Amino acid sequence: MKNLAVLTSGGDASGMNAAIRAVVRTGQARGMNTWGVFQGYSGLIEGNFKRLGTRDVSNIIQRGGTILGSARCPEFRTEEGVELAIRRLRGAGIDGLVVIGGNGSQTGANALHKMGFPVVGVASTIDNDLYGSEVTIGVDTALNVALNAIDNLKVTASSHNRALMVEVMGRKCGYLALMAGIAGGAEAVVLPEIDVVPEQLAERIQDVYERGKPHAIVVVAEGAKYNAAGLCEYFEQHNLLRGYEFRSTVLGYVQRGAVPTCADRLLGTRLGSEAAEQIIAGKHGVLVGCSHGELITTPLEEVVTGEKPLPPWFLKAADMFAR
Ligand code: ATP
Repeated sequence: MKNLAVLTSGGDASGMNAAIRAVVRTGQARGMNTWGVFQGYSGLIEGNFKRLGTRDVSNIIQRGGTILGSARCPEFRTEEGVELAIRRLRGAGIDGLVVIGGNGSQTGANALHKMGFPVVGVASTIDNDLYGSEVTIGVDTALNVALNAIDNLKVTASSHNRALMVEVMGRKCGYLALMAGIAGGAEAVVLPEIDVVPEQLAERIQDVYERGKPHAIVVVAEGAKYNAAGLCEYFEQHNLLRGYEFRSTVLGYVQRGAVPTCADRLLGTRLGSEAAEQIIAGKHGVLVGCSHGELITTPLEEVVTGEKPLPPWFLKAADMFAR
């Protein structure tokens, strides 16, 4: 292998830049020509490649987002799209690719692998819903942003005696909501993994009110059966608004783009570097992730079919501490 490329795909995650930098610098240290592919799989199909040297990835480790850009590319879901991408890569003389991204992106990586192109994945998504890594790049930063917001919201909720439904990202996965809820001292969490009964939730909030708490914070995952506004609406329609004044707020895109935490810079660096080492050593068709503090690799085929459950201890703890 002489020419190694890297791309970022799916939602941006803080720490992606550390991973890009690590792929490029590890590749350079091993004598590779290193390339960046811009705008994810769209750039692959369009042949939007550029040589990246050590200096091109200077001064990026502290930046959120991704210097390579990212995109959602429906064309890459087709066989023709994947074939065209491989022709583009081969045409540029590129013989290995590192894909930094989440579930969808690793499904795309697996499609390349199945058509015989050497590819290694790097586990990166703020949702933490990717099988093959206990924690993924971007999660820690997104959690810290959500926590800051929750801390602030608790102050304003207390001042006005309000119940606040705070919606956090996570797609179909409740990880961010669960962890932000526990670390933020929320009175309840609403997750996609557990069907919420609004009447029971309203009762719980009323109980908190009657015990004299000046606020109630409910962290709601965006993928839950009811979103934050939906819960408020339900309470209103079913005459369940008692005690507190109710409000909903959506954190949305502020959970992206933040300065990466130390943990995400280190995780991005470790995973990116290991992905480059793996592919250069001729080991491909795998995802590089991290479990119990150790680097692990998992076949992409397993990654795209596997499911990652929420950590059971935290799931149980959420109820115990929400008092
Ligand atoms: P995140 O969940 O953090 O946003 P992700 O990688 O899951 O990250 P997606 O939007 O699901 O983000 O996927 C990113 C891109 O991966 C898609 O735009 C598409 O180009 C490619 N992709 C998704 N699913 C497939 C598939 N089944 N086959 C080939 N490519 C796919």
